[in-house]
Amino acid sequence: MSRTEDSHDEIGNNHIATSATNPVRKDAFDLTDDQKIEAIKKDVESILLTLGIDLTDDSLKGTPNRVAKMFVKEVFGGLNPNKKPGASTFQNHYKYGEMLVEKNITLYSTCEHHLLPIIGRAHIAYISKGTVVGLSKMNRIVDYFAKRPQVQERLTMQIVQELQKVLNTEDVACVIDAKHLCVNSRGIRDIESSTVTSEFGGKFKEAQARREFLDYIKLDTKF
Ligand SMILES: [Zn+2]
Repeated sequence: MSRTEDSHDEIGNNHIATSATNPVRKDAFDLTDDQKIEAIKKDVESILLTLGIDLTDDSLKGTPNRVAKMFVKEVFGGLNPNKKPGASTFQNHYKYGEMLVEKNITLYSTCEHHLLPIIGRAHIAYISKGTVVGLSKMNRIVDYFAKRPQVQERLTMQIVQELQKVLNTEDVACVIDAKHLCVNSRGIRDIESSTVTSEFGGKFKEAQARREFLDYIKLDTKF
């Protein structure tokens, strides 16, 4: 293995993120979804054939197309900026000035180093400066950024930055507690471990607001 491959492997196993935005190429959307599905179908076919799988078997012959569609439309569908949830916000007429916490948001993402699932819970808090969002909007934002090849640290930051923009306030926080199947099912095979990441903006950088948020979520989540 070359030195470069070696260090890439190391980065993979340590799950170090290099940037807060996903490294997407300029030509990422030159192809239509259907063209991508066609190309990926051939790639999946090639992987399975190389592994020696008989693709004429009834159970397997639909697999390349199924996987290609699933990659483009579902598990990596959040790469497409057109899928970003719309910015439906409301004025905070009832003048609720305390923290709002949406906890235990189901999270399914994919580790970009191994292309294996990340499964967990996201917990989000914000303090309104006059604008509020519908509760399901937070789930949709989590899901949008999760449906990409990801690292958990970047995902946590992207969720906070998006909500800061939508809510027009810095006072947003997110904690994610997730299992990485690349750690749980292969490699070190530690089935119990999970990874916790957090991003605290504005007032959540102060001890009191941070404590209150962490008390609400208590990180006793079950997967
Ligand atoms: Zn991984």
